[in-house]
Amino acid sequence: MPKRILLSTPTMHSEELEFVKEAFDRNWIAPLGFNCDGFENEMSRYLSDNTPTPYHTLALCSGTAALHLAMKLAGVKRGDIVLCSDMTFAATINPVSYEGATQVFIDSERETWNMDPECLRMAFEKYPQAKVVALAHLYGTPAKMDEIMEICKEHKAVIVEDAAEALAATYNGRKCGTFGKYNVISFNGNKIITTSGGGMLITEDTNSRDKAFFWATQSREPKPWYEHKEIGYNYRMSNVVAGIGRGQLLHLEEHRDLKEKIYKRYKEAFADLPITMNPYLDGMKPNFWLSCILIDENCDVDPMEIMKRLDEENIEARPIWKPMHMQPVFEGYDFIYREDTPVNEDIFRRGLCLPSDIKMTEEEQDKVISVIRSMF
Ligand SMILES: *Cc1c(COP(=O)(O)O)cnc(C)c1O
Repeated sequence: MPKRILLSTPTMHSEELEFVKEAFDRNWIAPLGFNCDGFENEMSRYLSDNTPTPYHTLALCSGTAALHLAMKLAGVKRGDIVLCSDMTFAATINPVSYEGATQVFIDSERETWNMDPECLRMAFEKYPQAKVVALAHLYGTPAKMDEIMEICKEHKAVIVEDAAEALAATYNGRKCGTFGKYNVISFNGNKIITTSGGGMLITEDTNSRDKAFFWATQSREPKPWYEHKEIGYNYRMSNVVAGIGRGQLLHLEEHRDLKEKIYKRYKEAFADLPITMNPYLDGMKPNFWLSCILIDENCDVDPMEIMKRLDEENIEARPIWKPMHMQPVFEGYDFIYREDTPVNEDIFRRGLCLPSDIKMTEEEQDKVISVIRSMF
């Protein structure tokens, strides 16, 4: 039985185990510790190389935990409206509900598949009280940050930037994860680098970083006994898994380059078919986390049929993330769009995520390509 070709799985090297071994050797098997500190410092340095001020990082147990603390730092509270990316994974916007606020979903544009600045403008007209925008970069392609930051500035709104899928992607030379006031990356098992599970909160503001640390460690007051004036959380990253992250970070750019190569090979192979790839614009350097296809409007090949055929060949594909406004749990929530058929419904219907695992060989990728070609 040939091995299954998968969407995106962890790629380990050798340094990860050395950092983990050090945690064992020093019996530092706990949340917090030298690997967490090291990972935070190394990531701060990595992210801050092209930003006006240095960024501070906080290693946490998941990207979702980081997003939750980011929403709290942004002041999201009961009764608030948060303007949210619609085409994303639920973790981007679930923390809005944790804090009792309400999501309003914003349709995407077709040039990057991310939040449409025009729809965001419309949303602010309808909800002038909105003070927070939760924005994701889908599949590692940066959103139109200049336009979005300009609109947010006009409305004095804070951006919570979900760069969970976009670590190592850049927009006009600046790294994703450094555009919002509070930013998040994820090290879940399927991401471009992984710690098995984990995340990071990123902010320019040291006080915010300190406050998030306080919440993430059970909101313990500086007293000899356990004293609490606020509700806390147990969100810190373990010193063991932080070691995996330190080793992975050494290979981040290499992972990105391999992802790009996969994307470009698909693009070339499908050039003569009624298919386009997930798009991006000049000035953007995606991390190409997932390569996706979009079948032309006037072509009647069904992406679900392609997915079925690939599965029969032991190849994993996955539908485009189902838009949040179409999720049963958000039924009745407002959704701002401007085309007769919302862009996200259209992309969801015609798109498909392809295997983008950097351990995939050229022969394996050729197999994926030939199965897809056979459908047209
Ligand atoms: C993976 C992901 C997250 C969540 O990260 P976890 O570390 O799995 O909690 C959040 N947002 C997006 C867009 C993601 O893809």
